[in-house]
Amino acid sequence: MAPCWDEETLAGLRAELGTWFTARRRDLPWRGRDSLYGIWVSEIMLQQTVVSTVIPYYRRFMARFPSVESLAGADLEEVLELWSGLGYYRRARLLHDGARHVMSGLDGVLPRTREQWMTIPGVGEYASGAIASLGLGERVPAVDANARRVLLRWLCADPGQAATVTRRQLAGLAAEAVDPDRPGDWNEAVMELGALVCRASNPHCRECPVVHLCRAAGEGQAARVAAPDPPPKPTPVVLAQLVVVRRGRVLLTAPGSAPAVAAPSGAQVLRSDFAALHRGLWGLPTTAWFAPGADLDPDRLWLPVVRAAGLDVAPGRVMSCGGCRHAITRYRLQVQVHVLRLPAPGYGSGYSLPPEWGFFPYPLAGPPVSRLTNKVLSRALPAPG
Ligand code: SF4
Repeated sequence: MAPCWDEETLAGLRAELGTWFTARRRDLPWRGRDSLYGIWVSEIMLQQTVVSTVIPYYRRFMARFPSVESLAGADLEEVLELWSGLGYYRRARLLHDGARHVMSGLDGVLPRTREQWMTIPGVGEYASGAIASLGLGERVPAVDANARRVLLRWLCADPGQAATVTRRQLAGLAAEAVDPDRPGDWNEAVMELGALVCRASNPHCRECPVVHLCRAAGEGQAARVAAPDPPPKPTPVVLAQLVVVRRGRVLLTAPGSAPAVAAPSGAQVLRSDFAALHRGLWGLPTTAWFAPGADLDPDRLWLPVVRAAGLDVAPGRVMSCGGCRHAITRYRLQVQVHVLRLPAPGYGSGYSLPPEWGFFPYPLAGPPVSRLTNKVLSRALPAPG
């Protein structure tokens, strides 16, 4: 059976946490601006990304797209360009879809209830609760990972008890706890406590304003209740990417396309479909991801590809220029960087590139690319000086 609140404890939590939050709340650019649209943008950016990373992106995004109208009217490429480096690009696409949905399906008026927010692309249970409570004052919970941890520690004396609390039960308890007079402040305060004090693996109970009301702390079990899962075992991966340079321009492939690069013989392919990973982003010609040990010989990998595109390239022209490391979720990438410099002038009049390939001025100023692409390019083409 799930633990429950008693009225006295709840009243104490609301009062003491409210006082703490008033004194300790961080001044974040999306707070206190009275902008429902800004809250929406921030909540989408904050999914799976820490506050300090989001702040500069949020500022740039809001400066360029200050309203839902401006976002809906923008090209997706421009939105992705501003998002470039923040990762999880699906969020940007859904935010853009959501803005267009508001303009075309809701006459440009942002939803006024949590239920309506749930119909907006990319806005789920947590985000709808956060937007509706913070932006509209609706008495609904917003349970992100921080809030979930805090609630479980308040309620449960040990990990065994926490394990019996179902998602639905926790949602019900969270809803019951929301301060009816200040629902947005309450939700933010619980999440802020989780972010600043009730840390996942190292809760600072001595600094906690509600330590005397916390069951896990009372039993000396704070760090064990809602303890973080051990990180997944990293998977090492090797791959190669090709940087083709011609007259200060680099070759990129269009979103969703990639040249067919044959796997070296005996290589174990770990991943070869990047459509979901890099959707909407331009990229470099890349091999699949292989288990360590694959033979990434530049000529063998790339000559068939570039010759199929009509580029008359002699053996030995594709040079290896070291490597770089990059992490994507549990994958630890060791990227071999290969460079092909096309001679000019007078070269290249006879070839026609596939339509999904294009040369872009470098440093890049236009097409949205992933962090990995930027890293490989800066390895291959270091800034002068
Ligand atoms: Fe978290 Fe410790 Fe505060 Fe309880 S007392 S809410 S475990 S920081």
